[in-house]
Amino acid sequence: MFIEILGARNFEKLDVGLLCKDVKSAFNLEVAFRKTVIDFGATFDANRIQYNSTQILHLLLNSGKIQNNSKAIILTDLDLFVPILTYVFGEAELNGRTAIASSHRLHNEYYGLPKNEQLLQTRITKEIIHELGHTFGLIHCKDYKCVMHSSTYVEDIDLKEASLCISCKVNF
Ligand SMILES: [Zn+2]
Ligand SMILES: [Zn+2]
Repeated sequence: MFIEILGARNFEKLDVGLLCKDVKSAFNLEVAFRKTVIDFGATFDANRIQYNSTQILHLLLNSGKIQNNSKAIILTDLDLFVPILTYVFGEAELNGRTAIASSHRLHNEYYGLPKNEQLLQTRITKEIIHELGHTFGLIHCKDYKCVMHSSTYVEDIDLKEASLCISCKVNF
């Protein structure tokens, strides 16, 4: 079992080596990053001007782009939604094979704040670890510092650490 991170947009500023290292230490599994091209067109909702993340997960599962012995997560910068929510930072199949995380709402600039690439890197890392945690069957954790704590706002992400708490580690 290993983890595949599929970069589906341009992530020049992201420190991919550091991202892989941090994800690896959260799960103690090998992590591979590669760029991929996926046509997200069919998942675009013209009324919401957002992309349906559940549909993207189906697209990924049927794309033939993922290995048999991996958990695969797409990293994108699209604005994602699920029908019952205004937006999501990411989504995953619980106990499944696929997940997605988006940097769209993780940029400081999105909130009218100065650019902070280090903070963006940390937020992306936490969001990726969180969604991958769901693919390993982990549910939301009450510990606000645990990476599996649910985050509605970026401020919630900033309070978390990029790692599983002790009780989530036991369940992993
Ligand atoms: Zn979650
Ligand atoms: Zn936890």
